[in-house]
Formats: sequence, structure tokens, C-alpha cells
Amino acid sequence: MAISRRRAAEGPQGPGPIRASGWLAGVLTRGAFVLGLLAASCAGENISTDLVKPEVIQQRLEAGAVAASKRQDTIRRLFEHVGCAAQEQRVDRKSANVICALPGETPSTIVIGGHIDFVELGQGIVDDWSGASLLPSLYQALKSRTHHHTYVFVAFTKEEEGMVGSSRYVKNLTAEEKAAIRAFVNLECLGLSPTKVWVNRSTPALVSRLLEVGGALRLPIQAVNVDRVGDDDTHPFFSAKIPVISIHSLTQKTFGILHSPGDKLSAVRSGEYYDTYRLVTLYLAYLDTKLE
Ligand SMILES: [Zn+2]
Repeated sequence: MAISRRRAAEGPQGPGPIRASGWLAGVLTRGAFVLGLLAASCAGENISTDLVKPEVIQQRLEAGAVAASKRQDTIRRLFEHVGCAAQEQRVDRKSANVICALPGETPSTIVIGGHIDFVELGQGIVDDWSGASLLPSLYQALKSRTHHHTYVFVAFTKEEEGMVGSSRYVKNLTAEEKAAIRAFVNLECLGLSPTKVWVNRSTPALVSRLLEVGGALRLPIQAVNVDRVGDDDTHPFFSAKIPVISIHSLTQKTFGILHSPGDKLSAVRSGEYYDTYRLVTLYLAYLDTKLE
């Protein structure tokens, strides 16, 4: 999360319920019974994934407790470990985005991102190794499934310096590649609380799909908006008119952990972190069935 210094003290706004529009609003107000029906209908889609075990998710999180200069190599090795030969997209002499593609049956693409750089007042585990280190585990969970969409997992560099890596990534897309991206899913600062969505930044249809999956898994999802205090790698995608969703776990209470000595392994609540991993895995599989 890139934080605006002028406004940081205000913290984010929320948590609050996600105000859904249209049919979903009705569904959400009818409570648990309807959530049960959603669970059944999601199960009816027959979605299966190969979830990575909690111990492995934790090990991959711990692998990020290294110097900033080692992060790029660490994520590349984790991608290799799950069977993906990642490409590096140079941003400058020292830094690169690390990109792992999982080809689908069509050129339609879903891009999933997290960032590997961090502000060295802490260890940058929450912001944002918690997001970046899930990328190989999402790849692993989805790789043996038949899928229409091509998934592209990108560990971005230099987010904290103003979304430099993600801006370069979007700038380098050809018109054809850009038009093929159906969604950009950003994973930022996870595991501080149950899953939150920056609703003001996110495309409503993508939020609705996430709520459907949350309902099926019986996992709570709340709105916390960070418009006034921060920004993230959804920015260049959103500016390029690509549908985006910003998934995080920040609240007023936990926002102060970012860019501080408190941003370390012990800040991540492993149960809630794993719940977000399960949610995002099923979400990516579900989007494959729902997006064109
Ligand atoms: Zn940050």
C-alpha cells in the first residue's frame, strides 16, 4: 500500500457492509437461508481446486523475512518450486516485475497481483509479502484444473514508490493484450483481519462475484475504503479501464502497522490469512466460469 503522508493519520474508512446493487442487495438482506442456497448453487458449479495446506502457506509467508534486495529472487524461486518458469520484466537496472503465466484455452486473461518491495521501517511481511507470497500457491491450486482464461500472476516491484512496476506492466501491454484482460485482482496487506474490499476502487460486478464465493464458503467480507489515505497497484489498471478489485485486510485499528516496525510475521493472523487464501482461490476458479 502506498500511503499518502498528508492523510495517513485519518486511517481508512470502514469496516462496513458492502452495499450491493440489484438482485444481490435482495439476496444479502435475506440472510443465512439464502447464503445456504448460494452455497448450493456454487457447489452446483462443481468447482474444485487443489488448495495448498496451511503449513505451506505459512512457510511461504516466512520466506519473505529477507532483505529487500532478496525479494525478487525469493518469489522467482517460489514460482519455480510450483512448476512455473517466471519471466522478469525489467523496470530499472535493479528491479523487475516477476511474471508467471498459466495459459488457458482462450486468450481471455485474469491478472492477479501483489507487490514485493517494501518500506524498510519494518519487514514488509504484511505490506505486501502477504499478497505476493500467495501468488505461487494460487498458481499451484489452479494449475491442474481445466480453465478457459489465462491466469497471469505478477509480483510487482516498486509499488511504494508510486506503483512504478504495475504502471510499467500496463504501459507495456499491446492493445490486444489489454483488451483481453477481463479482471485485475490485487492482493494487498492480507491477514490482519477477515477479508476486506476497497469497494470505492473496485468494479461492482467483481465485488458481487466475490460476495457470492464468500457466501458459499461462509466467510465474512466487509468494505473498507482507503481512498483518502492510500493507493495500490489497481491504479494503473483502473486508469486503463480494466475491471479491478482490491482485496486487503486493513481496518482503522490495523492501518498503523503499515510502514512501521510492527510490519512483521507476528502481525499476520494465520487463520484469517488462510481463509483469504481459500476465498481468493475459489474466486479465481469461479471468475473463470463467470467472465467472458
Ligand atoms: Zn505500503
